[in-house]
Amino acid sequence: MPRAKGRSALLAFASQASLALTLTAASLTRPIASYQISCRLDTEKRAVEGTELLTWTNTTAKPAATLRFHLYLNAFRNTLSTFWRESGGERRGDRLPESWGSIELTRMTLADGSDLLASLSYVSPDDGNPYDRTVAEVQLPRAVQPGETISISIDFRSRLPRVSARTGWKGDFYLVAQWFPKIGVFQDKGWNCHQFHASSEFFADFGNYDVSIDVPVRYRGKVGATGVRVEERNLPGDRVLYRFRQDSVHDFAWTADPDFLVVDDVFREPAVADTQIRLLLQPEHRGQQARYLKATKVALSGYGRVLGPYPYPTLTVVDPPWGAMGAGGMEYPTFITAGTHRMAPASAQSPEGVTIHEFGHQYFYGLLASNEFEEPWLDEGFNEYMEDRVVGAAYGSNRPVLTAFGFRFPIGVAVHRPLDTNRRYFQVATEDVLASPAWKFRTRTSYGANVYSKTALAMATLERLLGTPTMNRALRLYADRWRFRHPTTADWIAAVRDATGRDYRWFFDRTFYSSGAVDYAVVDAKSEKVEPPKGLFESEGGLVEKPPAELAKGKGWKSVVTVARLGDVAMPVEVLLRFDGNHTYRSTWDGEARWKRFRVDRGPRLLEAVVDPGEKILLDVDRTNNGRLVHADPRAASRWTARAVFWMQNLIDSLTIAW
Ligand SMILES: [Zn+2]
Repeated sequence: MPRAKGRSALLAFASQASLALTLTAASLTRPIASYQISCRLDTEKRAVEGTELLTWTNTTAKPAATLRFHLYLNAFRNTLSTFWRESGGERRGDRLPESWGSIELTRMTLADGSDLLASLSYVSPDDGNPYDRTVAEVQLPRAVQPGETISISIDFRSRLPRVSARTGWKGDFYLVAQWFPKIGVFQDKGWNCHQFHASSEFFADFGNYDVSIDVPVRYRGKVGATGVRVEERNLPGDRVLYRFRQDSVHDFAWTADPDFLVVDDVFREPAVADTQIRLLLQPEHRGQQARYLKATKVALSGYGRVLGPYPYPTLTVVDPPWGAMGAGGMEYPTFITAGTHRMAPASAQSPEGVTIHEFGHQYFYGLLASNEFEEPWLDEGFNEYMEDRVVGAAYGSNRPVLTAFGFRFPIGVAVHRPLDTNRRYFQVATEDVLASPAWKFRTRTSYGANVYSKTALAMATLERLLGTPTMNRALRLYADRWRFRHPTTADWIAAVRDATGRDYRWFFDRTFYSSGAVDYAVVDAKSEKVEPPKGLFESEGGLVEKPPAELAKGKGWKSVVTVARLGDVAMPVEVLLRFDGNHTYRSTWDGEARWKRFRVDRGPRLLEAVVDPGEKILLDVDRTNNGRLVHADPRAASRWTARAVFWMQNLIDSLTIAW
């Protein structure tokens, strides 16, 4: 139920949420990188000035002699940045605006006052680009020992670009993300701190965030951020300060727009802590308020049931204005951006799809904080797979808006999730090995097709091979085991093994770690009337040129079907033979050989042969060759229906000796 708006309601919201935060704090995780930030938005200069106190613990077994920081906004500094070079100045099909962004550090000191800034240098571990400024390294006067915690004070000045890739401004709207100096992840093998790429996202350690945001007074009540709002305070000079806190997250983003329509709601489900939902809506999208809220609750429920409850007390959903869609469709801890159009019909499933997708990242990215640079399929692909399930369960799998594209298949496959938009994978199936770092795909099309779509189709295929309850067990095991940690693909494969008692490494070798395509086809299907045999046959007087009486009369139909593996990758498949009189025969083939032949020496007339009739192998790149109709014959042998038992036995015998 929508809650009343206004100042008192906002304060009530904050105190309730704080209570929830206290209650759940015990179950959350040990901080590694925590931030206290005070910042001030300068709307004239499109800049945020801030002071940051970073508390960082070396959790490895190795001393850290240096520190590395992400300075993401420098991706927008000039056309020589790695981000700009890789994107070719384009994003989601649009030219990037020549509106520059940057982040400069003006002070960096340790708790004892020693200066680190003088030792700062820029490094480009991924591509050696000497002009990229998105990763900085500083030398420490003394190495941080294993288990030791240090504090670093940093003053910074961030200049925001016009919204293009996730972050920036449009008019009075601000989406402030990737905006503060952020420490990399220190591992036993050293710093994991990648540059900002055109096709990659993020990786960071969990910590506690306490962020104060000072904005002009016209933004009163219209600031949203990661976490719980714990303070609102007037400042001199027509300014107002908002303070947000959230423990056990690994990033912090915020937004401000005087036009926001603030809608509060609550998600309630038995045996699960309530989640306060705050929707920050553009006034022209007011008509879609209910759709946004329903989708948010569908997501909280749908993901929570499979992967465990959402652990944070708040969730903020941002609806960016027209012209700022570059800030839409993005995820930060407890904070997502969606997007819609004023006239979006319900059948387009927008804003539903994007809201549910971005919420899903609260799991695949938020809680299961895999390395998005190195293994982007673990967040995007797994989430795409779950989004299809959650959207399909709540809104139906069919997308009528897409059926107009006119896909037709011999066994009547409609356009629906999870195939739907994931078909884009089929066009570029062999271009890249799916398991590649985000910035190493041949094209951005291949990146999207592999990381999102192939992963989603592989996961959906696995679900169909295992059965949904078993797949859910594997997902839950993975989610429970790796919540608040950094799982890898190997950890997922281990979870599947532990949930099923079987090793599915072969499946991932053939999908994630392969550029091979799956393509099964019925290449031959024939059915002919059985003729009396010819030749020499045994008789009392020796061999005679006449068949014995029981074979002399031609009876039934002889059918031959050949199913072939046209792709490099083998998967177990089912084969369906459909005969006259509504008789069907199903067989399972391990799919390993290049082909398999099915013969029926004597039976009803074969009407149709289909490989993978249940559409389990969603990775099959060409479904148009999966079925073959045997041409209709007017002499329909209906008499066979009465003799089903006989011919079925005959059929099974023949099939078992098929080669
Ligand atoms: Zn995503």
